[in-house]
Amino acid sequence: MGGPEIDRLIGMLARLPGLGPRSARRAALALLRQPEARLLPLARAMEQAAQAVRTCSSCGNLDTRDPCGLCSDPLRDRGLVCVVETVGDLWALERACVHRGLYQVLGGTLSALGGVGPDDLNTAPLFARIAAGDVREVILALGATVDGATTTHWLGERLAATGVAVSRVGHGVPMGGALDVLDDGTLAAALAARRPAQV
Ligand code: ZN
Repeated sequence: MGGPEIDRLIGMLARLPGLGPRSARRAALALLRQPEARLLPLARAMEQAAQAVRTCSSCGNLDTRDPCGLCSDPLRDRGLVCVVETVGDLWALERACVHRGLYQVLGGTLSALGGVGPDDLNTAPLFARIAAGDVREVILALGATVDGATTTHWLGERLAATGVAVSRVGHGVPMGGALDVLDDGTLAAALAARRPAQV
């Protein structure tokens, strides 16, 4: 239609989660109609994010500093660590203001089909914090999927062997559900209803 630059823009937008080709065309049109107000600020924001954002070496969160803002916040409860699958899950819990401790982002779950094994999950920083004596309780807040349950069981066993208290989120997380699509009230209920992990 309008040249290779526009096709390329539409193609890249179409690869974003939640955007198919039709939505990508609409978004591209909206951006191109007001390049000064929309396209250029977006391009600048993306470039700045690409240069500045890094993964926190302590918890796996994304931030412009390492350790991230959560890990360096002196007001957070360092003895309480919530384990989540993705940064999106961490952000969902933060939006809901239901957890005042720190986090550990695994980067996924164990998955036989997906070829994800224990070594692929980001657990080492958590065990280092436990070994340093900083952790009192670990809350396993993984999705209620088969892989999430497998991971909860596997990690719960390893954590229990270290002597820390281990709990898992309870009611509120629907079967087959991901954490980052839950509303704040459901997330708060799930965290409040945590119970000792069955390991
Ligand atoms: Zn962090």
